[in-house]
Amino acid sequence: MILCVRWSAIVVLVLSLTGLGCSKDKAASATSETPSAQPIIQGANNTSAKPVEPVGPAMHVDAARAMQYTKEIIAFGPRWDGSKGMDQVRAYLQAKLKADTVEEDAFVAETSIGKVPMRNIIAKFPGSKDGIIVLASHYETNYWLRNINFVGANDGAATTGLLLAIADQLRGKKLEGYSVWIAFLDGEESMTRQWHSDDALWGSRHLAKKWQDDGTSKKVKAFLLADMIGDADLGVYRDENSTPWLENLALQAATRLGYQSHFFTATTSVEDDHLPFARAGMPVADLIDLDYGYNNSFHHTAQDTIDKLSVESLKISGDVILETIRLVNGMGDNPPQAPKVPS
Ligand SMILES: [Zn+2]
Repeated sequence: MILCVRWSAIVVLVLSLTGLGCSKDKAASATSETPSAQPIIQGANNTSAKPVEPVGPAMHVDAARAMQYTKEIIAFGPRWDGSKGMDQVRAYLQAKLKADTVEEDAFVAETSIGKVPMRNIIAKFPGSKDGIIVLASHYETNYWLRNINFVGANDGAATTGLLLAIADQLRGKKLEGYSVWIAFLDGEESMTRQWHSDDALWGSRHLAKKWQDDGTSKKVKAFLLADMIGDADLGVYRDENSTPWLENLALQAATRLGYQSHFFTATTSVEDDHLPFARAGMPVADLIDLDYGYNNSFHHTAQDTIDKLSVESLKISGDVILETIRLVNGMGDNPPQAPKVPS
């Protein structure tokens, strides 16, 4: 990930009182004495308060297996585009998904470091209704961190492992409701240390355009992005660039499972892989924890390692995603459209 663009008024107020900046997330949430998401949610377009009844049998992720997958991905070492590790992770994903219907979206990105071959990998699990719910994560690590041992345990690996474990739950079932597509996205990170939105989000921009051109985007009822949510100290942010009704639905899912204290602990605006899909008209929610280590100090450093993650966090994140799928299916044939997003 990711650029944190701006904070909500509440957090900005807290930060201005404490003299803290954008990366001082933990101090901000502690200072605000916000025990759960509720006070902030009330000020953030809480348009879907009415509970939705889920459709289909409850599903639970095998979080220990998600952690095992995460370890296996990390074992390939840094996986920046062009590295041997990235080739190995692509082959690993293809092997894990070999029993599934897979779409590969290969392209060459014209980046600031030259032409870079990239590949989105999308596994498709058919449902009984016309329409698609997309789950997504990026799987590469940063090119500009190639000279340190940056394995992105939380930033890329954990959510990739989590989505593989979710695929295990979907495989071989006749899903009630919409089809579920799991998208492993390439090229999310900015090529340079300084974030440039036109030098990042390569895979998501390519796939969103492809889906817009071929009409798939009109069938997508919800796009759920997972990023950095294996953190042992899990606190998922509300993101102002996400679609409010879909974020509210994720909060309902978390609340149904008793995990609401981990959700929407703070509010910010995030530039991440969900944006190209939002601009292409799809409802999106970025489930992201931008408070990774004290003052977000593990983020984009060699300290982003497996010991900072927990099986419990993967269980919370995975089960909330699976429960959100049931709630999207519970919204009837026409869940709300995405609001217009400027491109
Ligand atoms: Zn990142």
